[in-house]
Amino acid sequence: MPHPWRGLLLAPIAFLALCCATSREEPPAGAANAPAPSRADRIRAATGAVDDARLKGADADVGDWLTHGRTYAEQRYSPLEQIRDTNVAQLGLRWSLDLGTHRGVEATPIAVDGVLFTTGPWSVVYAIDARSGTLIWSYDPQVPKTVGANACCDVVNRGAAVYKGRVYAGTLDGRLLALDAATGALAWQVQTTDTTRPYTITGAPRVVAGNVILGNGGAELGVRGYVSAYDAETGRLVWRFYTVPGDPSQPFENAHLAMAAKTWSGEWWKVGGGGTAWDSFAYDPDLDLLYIGTGNGSPWSRYARSPQGGDNLFVSSILAVRPKTGELVWYFQTTPGDNWDYTSTQHMILADLEIGGKPRKVLMQAPKNGFFYVLDRATGEFLSAKPYVEVSWAKGIDAQGRPVEASGTDYRRETREIRPSPFGGHNWQPMSYDPQTGLVYVPAQEVPFFFRFDPSWRYTPGAWNTFTDMSVIQEVPPELVSGHLLAWDPRAQREVWRAQYGLPWNGGTLATAGNLVFQGTADGRFVAYRASDGAKLWESPAGSGVVAAPITYLVDGVQYVTVMAGWGGVFALAGGDAARSAGVESVGRVLTFALGGSAPPPPPADLPPPPRPSVEVTASAAQIQAGGNAYHRWCAHCHGIGAVGGGVLPDLRYSTPETHARFADIVLGGVSQDRGMPSFAKWLTPQEVEQIRAYVVSRARDAAKAAGVK
Ligand code: CA
Repeated sequence: MPHPWRGLLLAPIAFLALCCATSREEPPAGAANAPAPSRADRIRAATGAVDDARLKGADADVGDWLTHGRTYAEQRYSPLEQIRDTNVAQLGLRWSLDLGTHRGVEATPIAVDGVLFTTGPWSVVYAIDARSGTLIWSYDPQVPKTVGANACCDVVNRGAAVYKGRVYAGTLDGRLLALDAATGALAWQVQTTDTTRPYTITGAPRVVAGNVILGNGGAELGVRGYVSAYDAETGRLVWRFYTVPGDPSQPFENAHLAMAAKTWSGEWWKVGGGGTAWDSFAYDPDLDLLYIGTGNGSPWSRYARSPQGGDNLFVSSILAVRPKTGELVWYFQTTPGDNWDYTSTQHMILADLEIGGKPRKVLMQAPKNGFFYVLDRATGEFLSAKPYVEVSWAKGIDAQGRPVEASGTDYRRETREIRPSPFGGHNWQPMSYDPQTGLVYVPAQEVPFFFRFDPSWRYTPGAWNTFTDMSVIQEVPPELVSGHLLAWDPRAQREVWRAQYGLPWNGGTLATAGNLVFQGTADGRFVAYRASDGAKLWESPAGSGVVAAPITYLVDGVQYVTVMAGWGGVFALAGGDAARSAGVESVGRVLTFALGGSAPPPPPADLPPPPRPSVEVTASAAQIQAGGNAYHRWCAHCHGIGAVGGGVLPDLRYSTPETHARFADIVLGGVSQDRGMPSFAKWLTPQEVEQIRAYVVSRARDAAKAAGVK
């Protein structure tokens, strides 16, 4: 699909280096003879010292949060215990910083010497003074708004990496940025993706052995996944590992992909195959293995992707590669022949556990498919897996680690209810592991889903290509949907306690030596639980739904806890009604807490009244139904399932008469392209657009009726 901005992309790059870092640096202070170091000097020194040795030893560095999961093992466990179960009741808000956005906020900040480095919607990078919440600098990479249509789940970014004085971040349009940590000035950037394909980057890079490691996403639209390693100093591509085989008429990149190609059938490479590594990595420096989680197949439905069957390596897998070369050492596929969007991109935790009387170096993951896996991370040997939420697609996992698929899941001829859903029993929201309690704290959820294959589907470049009927999700009864914080014993593979929530899609977790687990919630709270038994000890209003994971660190010897608020993300797709009924909205903010903190809480949600149709349309029930089908193919992943917006992008049920009058100009004429609304002129006819409009009006009418609005 040609993008109007593609030809423009290269030209502005040199300009961006000059234009986009907004620096709030303080003037140098002090006397002429012995000038005190400026803030920039101090940041330069502190971040400049973050090298391979510091990253390997991050666990001992209790005052900072040096890498995405705090350490390469990604346990998200802090040894800090100034804030603990006995005094957490005195925790209070120290400051909040409004990011001026309603889009999804999913980042885990990095904390170095009292400075937070984090990211927001549209891949904007921020440096924030953790003492005061003052913005030190921000860098806007000026991602073209039209790229937003390539994002499956909003224009989110899950964080940055810091190494040797630089801040690294991926951008939604596929670039890797290297910024000066002290000023936000661009040092270099490199395009890591083919801009003719709908790739996006939303995950946080990791720096391992001098290489910046990052993946990409786009499997809902149709891409071929890969992971790249760039030299942190120069931006030179060091290696690239494709996670699925390409066109077999061309030479395969390596023997592993030649082997993998034997597990595919049909013409998968035309849509791309998927297997995108869009979020999780972990690293074991002793074994020198980098672990990569890969995503679902593209398209979702294996009946279209690989019609004669096959496992489709390496979709939905955990891969172990050498970080210096990208050479594959072992792989483990959690969902062979994925048919349900069961990514294995979920957070991976490395730990040393005693299992069966023997110490084992394990890797733990709770992928979307609903089973909690424990693997030997040296060899990839399967150790155990048990369902951590309700599972209907498989009866269990056999002794070799292979799922035993349940009967009655074939959705070619009839609609099938499948659990978990493509939202997952657990999604990207990071879990944490407390070595004191021996428990893993999983942001879990129960969301059933209906699958129905659409045999009429034809691959359409640049659009969603799931080959499943997305409109059937409307049939899921809301009372079956919920979320919970799950405390899971990975040795015994059993639940120890849970904290139940009405809404799914809650935040990532943080465990601390203070016998605490912190989690933000979809219904707008930030909560601390006692790690050992799940007693709720403290909560604070967050002023927004929260999905990101908290961090903790020291500033001047005082323990702080920071979390980014703003649910966005997949709530753009579903959940808007539930969130509204819980009285929350999405507001992007950084919230920082400390004992005795007394900053005013963020204001409560300012929610609109229920929608009511602003115009009437005459359309038959059949036309409205056709409009609903087209809506769910083309519109729902931004404007929401059932035309219920998630408070992130316009909820079309609230469209004004003026918007209705310009409906065709917006959808087909591209008049709102600068706001991120693409033109659908290539795909939709004026008649179909009118049917979509009729469907939207009918949904406004339904909502008004349900709310008792005349
Ligand atoms: Ca997916």
